[in-house]
Amino acid sequence: MSGIKIINKGDRFAHAGIGSIHDFEGKQFVKDATGATSCEISFGSLPSGTAVPFFHSHKENEENYIILSGSGHFQVDDEVFDIAEGSVIRVSTNCDRNLKCTSDEPMVYICIQAREGGLGGYTMTDAEITERENIL
Ligand code: ZN
Repeated sequence: MSGIKIINKGDRFAHAGIGSIHDFEGKQFVKDATGATSCEISFGSLPSGTAVPFFHSHKENEENYIILSGSGHFQVDDEVFDIAEGSVIRVSTNCDRNLKCTSDEPMVYICIQAREGGLGGYTMTDAEITERENIL
């Protein structure tokens, strides 16, 4: 099982990492490392030929799966479809979900769990350009 490490932290940010996704194994939740308050992010890895060992459902949170490597199948209730590197899958509350890696390489993915319907303002209405000096 790989771990998450806090890399650096300030008053207004936290930077954590799992290292190379190619070496990542197992499941790693991120919220406790970064102190996130709006969503839970997890990294997952499935070896070739394996699926998550159980189906699960959420009562209040939707999930967004982002496939970083590998390919396979995703099941929502009784519906199955193909997924691959670059796929983004949103799954609503109150339905069963699972995914399986069928590629030779492991499937590594990110799952972002957040309150369904909870996104208020975003990008164009929530963000504003500021005048900070660029010191990058
Ligand atoms: Zn879940």
